[in-house]
Amino acid sequence: MSQTTYVGRFAPSPTGPLHFGSLITAVASYCEARSQAGQWFVRIEDTDIPRIYPGSEQHILACIDAFGFESDRTIIFQRDRLALYQAVLDQLHAAQLIYACQCTRKMLGSNHIYQGRCRSLALPFANQAIRVKVDERCIAFDDALQGHVSSRLDLELGDFVLKRRDGIYNYQLAVVVDDYLQGVTHVVRGADLLDNTARQRYLQQILAYPTLHYMHLPLAMNAQGQKLSKQNMAQPLALDQAPQLLQQAIAALGQTSVDLDTPQRMLQQAIAQWDRAAIPRGLSLSHQIYR
Ligand code: GLU
Repeated sequence: MSQTTYVGRFAPSPTGPLHFGSLITAVASYCEARSQAGQWFVRIEDTDIPRIYPGSEQHILACIDAFGFESDRTIIFQRDRLALYQAVLDQLHAAQLIYACQCTRKMLGSNHIYQGRCRSLALPFANQAIRVKVDERCIAFDDALQGHVSSRLDLELGDFVLKRRDGIYNYQLAVVVDDYLQGVTHVVRGADLLDNTARQRYLQQILAYPTLHYMHLPLAMNAQGQKLSKQNMAQPLALDQAPQLLQQAIAALGQTSVDLDTPQRMLQQAIAQWDRAAIPRGLSLSHQIYR
């Protein structure tokens, strides 16, 4: 085992090109890791094959390069790791912590809390959604920017899906398995993922994986007051504007400004000046409009 006590990652999904919000996440996760002499790497989260947007994987890889990020490890793709996710599902099956569910979207209706209809039916697993049983425990943690967060999955969500009927492994499962297998210690990502964290921590607990540290960054918003996202057509990061965009992302993170230079040197300067306490808190960067 390496002696490094900080292992961070940037884990985009290729459901669209990277945008300014993605850059903020990449910069913050990179500077957090490097300023603590930690490792940092990239993982492509492409388990949801139907949602992959053509060309976005190439755009992500081109951005990593053009913006000067150096991944300490070979970039992995989750679609190459499906057997690992299945092995963990088998482990949960053996522990009787998962079950097959035949409820259709129509049967579930608008109810966001799954009532456990299939929990005791012992249905065969083939071609069914697979749900994990949740219990009454309180999942609580201290987020580095968002403060104390606590949830009761049984009251807020119910048993949740780990594998879909169409065979796609759910993000919650893949991210937990890979963070564990890759020895990740610190997760830095957008605040839109804050309410996924309880599910992920629950899975870590039932699998006896170590606990991670979390930092959920405030989201960049557009002129309509929506978070920048692939769905609402945020502008793809322009590779030929890397220094300017890096400068803006570093400023959005509340950091002392860096001089326009090569992306690598700009990131070096940002790491040297990095001040976690200056990162804005809250769920959004609402004082500024981004595209
Ligand atoms: N793949 C997720 C996304 O692009 C991020 C996962 C994570 O950082 O945990 O939204």
